[in-house]
Parts: sequence; structure tokens; C-alpha cells
Amino acid sequence: MCRRVTCPNDNKPTWWGCETGKHIDTALDGVAEQDRCDCPHSPVESNPNMFEVKPGVTKESEQQPSA
Ligand SMILES: [Zn+2]
Repeated sequence: MCRRVTCPNDNKPTWWGCETGKHIDTALDGVAEQDRCDCPHSPVESNPNMFEVKPGVTKESEQQPSA
């Protein structure tokens, strides 16, 4: 089950928990899609079945165009 947390990178609402996608809409119920955090989720070190946004890991930092 996911729960809503605040992203450490952009202070937007995001989710913490399973990455099945099943509960993301429940966790972020009432949050408009454009207001949701867009950072990538990584496995939690102590629990690889759970996912979280790591501080410093943003969509932008992951998708650096290789010039
Ligand atoms: Zn974010």
C-alpha cells in the first residue's frame, strides 16, 4: 500500500510504497496530475519491495542528454 509523502526535491506531493501503480491514485487522491512530483522512484534500501524518491534524484538529473 502506498502513502502520500512530500518529495524532498521539489516539495510536491508524491507517493511512498509499492511501485505496482495500483495505489498511486489512492495515495495522491485529490492532487492534480500537474501538481504531483515527477521524480523517479528508487527501491528503499531496507525494503527493496518498497519505493521512494531519493533526495537529489530528479527526473532532470536522470535524463541528462548525452551531447
Ligand atoms: Zn519530486
